[in-house]
This record gives sequence, C-alpha cells and structure tokens, in this order.
Amino acid sequence: MRLISSRIRGMKDLLPEESEKWIAVCETIRSEARLYDFKFIRTPVIEHTEIFERSAGDSSDIVNKEMYTFTDKGGRSVTLRPEGTAGVMRAVLENGLHNQTLPLKLMYNSSCYRYEKPQAGRYREFFQFGLEIFGSSSPLADTELICLAGSILQRLGIKNIKLDINSIGCVNCRKNYLEAIKTYFAEKNLCETCKIRLESNTLRILDCKNSKCKEISSKAPLVTDYLCTECEDHFNGVKDSLKSLGIDYNLNPRIVRGLDYYSRTVFEFSTDIEDTSLVICGGGRYDGLSELFGGSYLPALGLGIGIERVLMIMEHQKINFEHNEPLEVYIAAADDKSRLYALKLCELLRKSSVSAEADLLERSLKSQLKYADKVGAYYTIFLGQEELEKGEAKMREMNSKKEYIISIGEKFLEDFLSVQLKKFGL
Ligand SMILES: [Zn+2]
Ligand SMILES: [Zn+2]
Repeated sequence: MRLISSRIRGMKDLLPEESEKWIAVCETIRSEARLYDFKFIRTPVIEHTEIFERSAGDSSDIVNKEMYTFTDKGGRSVTLRPEGTAGVMRAVLENGLHNQTLPLKLMYNSSCYRYEKPQAGRYREFFQFGLEIFGSSSPLADTELICLAGSILQRLGIKNIKLDINSIGCVNCRKNYLEAIKTYFAEKNLCETCKIRLESNTLRILDCKNSKCKEISSKAPLVTDYLCTECEDHFNGVKDSLKSLGIDYNLNPRIVRGLDYYSRTVFEFSTDIEDTSLVICGGGRYDGLSELFGGSYLPALGLGIGIERVLMIMEHQKINFEHNEPLEVYIAAADDKSRLYALKLCELLRKSSVSAEADLLERSLKSQLKYADKVGAYYTIFLGQEELEKGEAKMREMNSKKEYIISIGEKFLEDFLSVQLKKFGL
C-alpha cells in the first residue's frame, strides 16, 4: 500500500488499544479535581504569538526554538500553544472571570505543541492536564494545590512519588539573586547553551542537564538565601501547612521551573524509572503574569500533568489501569432484609463520594468477606438481624483488623466519617 502521505514527524495517533488508558487517566484527574471544586475551561489551540512571548519571556528556550509560529492569511503572527497556562490567563482576563467569585479554580486538558527533537516518549504534540487557582495569594492555596496533585498521583496508583518544593522569590528579591548567580557563573566553564543563557536566562542554567553544568550549579548560591521577608514568610506558611497535613516534601533549592513567569512557590512531583528521576507533574505560583498581560494584580498558581508521561510511567510500574481505586467500603449482609438495608447505606456513601458496594449475588457472609478481601475494600461493615434492631454495626478496617461500632441509623455518615478521619491522622 502506498499512501499519499504519512503522519507528520513527532506526532502520534492515539489508537483504541491505548485510548482507554488515556481516558482512564484523564477521568481520574478530572474526578479528583472535582472534589476540590475545579471547573472545566477550554481555550483555543491557537493564540496571538505575543501571548506566549510575553508569558515565557523572549529569552526562554520555548520561545527561541520550540514554538509552532506562523503568519495567518491576514498577516498576523499566530502560535499553536506550547503550554496551557498563558491561554487560560488570557481567557480569564478577557472574559472578566477574575471579577467574579474568587478563588477561581479551573482545569483543562489541552493539546500542546513544541518543535523539539522527537525522542522516546516525547512528541511534538502532547497533552497537558492543567489545574489553575486564581485570586489567592495565601500559602493555603499552594498547599491545597500540592495536596490535590498528591492525591491525583496516589489515585492513579503511581509508586515511589517524591515531592520537591522551593521558593524562587518575587521580582524584588530575585533581582539580587540573579545578580549573585550571574557573578558566580560568569567565571565558570559552562556548556555552550548555558554561555548564551548567562546573559538572558540565567535561572535556566540551574536546570541544565549537562553534567559539567550540574556540577558547577551544585555550588551556586541558593535562591532561598536571597528571599525578602514577605517571600520568606510565604514559603514558611506553605511548609508549615504541608507539614500539618502530613505531606512529606524535600526542600530542593535547585528547582526553578522552565518558565520565567513563576514566582515564589515552585514544586515538582517525580518518580524513579531505572535510576532516572522523572518529573510527573510540576507547577508553581505566577502572581505577576496577569500584569504582564496588561491586567491588574491577580495572584495565581497552577500545575501541569503530562498525560503521555503518566501513561509511560504507569506502563513501566505495571499499574493496572482498571482497578486503581480500591473499594472504600464493602457492606456484608447476613439475610435478605439486611441486604436491602446495605444497598441503602451504599447509596448514602456514594452520594458523599465514598465508593461502596454490597452483595448482589445473595452469597453467604463468608464468601462476601472473601470478595471484600479480593477487591481490596478498605472497610467492611457487617449487617444482620441483630444489627438492624440495635441500629449499630461493626465496621472492620481490613488491613489492621481494627474494629469500630458505628450507627447505621441517622448518625451513620457522621460515624463513618469520624472513623475514616483516623486514616488521615485526625
Ligand atoms: Zn520577594
Ligand atoms: Zn549547561
């Protein structure tokens, strides 16, 4: 067979074999974000070029080399989006969403385009799931976003997740820092790319993958030593609230993120694949971007998850795509009357976003318990004649075998949730 043309280099067809997995990943991210009240937004794939020039900074690698920019029939310079945030910020400002109720939480699943050298697992068209929060400068917003990212990765089933955080300060304190590293790097023997970066894009040197540059960077001044009081307070706020939510992190003064518009908190979630650390999700604060676009001050922060990378890691870690979420509650029932009651309780739990199941096959208690074990139910509740009369039942945490007595009447949800809270150390 001789077709008149083939796929464009660096592009990829998503075939049914893989598309189910693709949908499963996107659906998991979407449904987790819904629990945090994120709303969906879609912006055009194409924007006026200045949107990306302004946001990424003229000197960034993306603008220099990687953008799909062309002149349209009306003679305007337009660009296929290389990332999601800039277009969403433009849409928020243009449609006045920032004048409505704040904080504004938006999510999107967008195709992005970068003219990079095609390599394994990297395409010129790729999909980014983005989550953005507008209108809050509080460290609590940073913490909530990081929490959300963590629960998404956990729900996807990704193993050995590591969280690195850093603060890169604001426009004011970064000036002094840039000064300091420029002086430091000026006398060093950097790679060719970094020699160019030295003048225009100094921060990116810290990101360079070249082993010589890495070595030089490891002794460079630390951004956290240059933070102004406000930035330091903000960063302490983020660290303290992460701690009190029980979220482990590493302080990593080396992460700077690729784009110039980041300020203060930056973070990365990564995992190891064959001794190489791979970033699955990265994000941070970009309080200054709105003003760069001609808007008024609008604190904002966000993160991006590369769908192709998630799929690659999940394949690698042999994660089963269908059963990533173990069942939370199984309600075992001894007789027909309690079987029906079990269904009612399940409905109550599901309406509160707790996954629940009861017996639909009229099996014995013993085989119901076996089933609960097999599907990995976190809790099992036991119902029978006696329990229905008393209005109380036993609930077992399957792993620890710990048992609780909870109400199965009016206070059912309340009792259930207070046991569940123990899971989170509350
Ligand atoms: Zn500052
Ligand atoms: Zn370098």
